[in-house]
Amino acid sequence: MKASPEAQLRLLELADLDAELSRLEHRRRGLPEHAELDRLEQRDAALRDTVASLEAEQGDLRRALAKAEADVDQVRTRIDRDRKRLDAGQVSNPRDLENLQSEVASLTRRQSDLEDVVLEIMERQEAAQSSRETAAAERVEIAAARDVVTARRDAALAEIGEQAGKADDRRAAVASQEPPDLLALYERMREQHGGVGAAALRGGRCEGCHLSLNMVDLNDIRNADPDDVLRCEECRRILVRTPESGL
Ligand SMILES: [Zn+2]
Repeated sequence: MKASPEAQLRLLELADLDAELSRLEHRRRGLPEHAELDRLEQRDAALRDTVASLEAEQGDLRRALAKAEADVDQVRTRIDRDRKRLDAGQVSNPRDLENLQSEVASLTRRQSDLEDVVLEIMERQEAAQSSRETAAAERVEIAAARDVVTARRDAALAEIGEQAGKADDRRAAVASQEPPDLLALYERMREQHGGVGAAALRGGRCEGCHLSLNMVDLNDIRNADPDDVLRCEECRRILVRTPESGL
């Protein structure tokens, strides 16, 4: 293939722009804000689960409390009724009296146990409510942090997008000056070589694969026509002669 030395040198400009574009793409994908937002989202999802299970627990506790309070009321009613009978002097038989007094004593112990249950449930309710408030407060913090990180990410993306837009424009301008067959070869090499389709020959070395050319190949290059499109024997990239080629 033949192409003017100017067209060949422009390939190096194209390669620089492609390298810049791939650097920008790499930066765009690797923004720390992506990972940070993922982490915040995961933490928020965990907190949502925590809040849901605390809500369920609070429902259970409300039902348990209602039952325990009803139990206390029932026992208290029986104690009142027994006391009234005792106070009214309705029970005269000593044996019945003793039975009734012993029932009141046992009901009173039962009432005290049930009141302990009520208190314990109320303590658990307080703990659940406090955990829920803590989780809700953390979710508010996370939402604020997410806004900050999202704004930072968007600003970084906008800046990268602007730079990429400029590089795209410059690339299009350079590419439009290239002969189609040379450009097609460059694109094919670029696909095969991870984004670098052409490399300079500098100081007897291919800048694409960083290998030094041997004497025979260097002599062939010295004798080649300036319009000849050369390829690196090692990496097959388009090899572009420059004033620093060391020929
Ligand atoms: Zn090479």
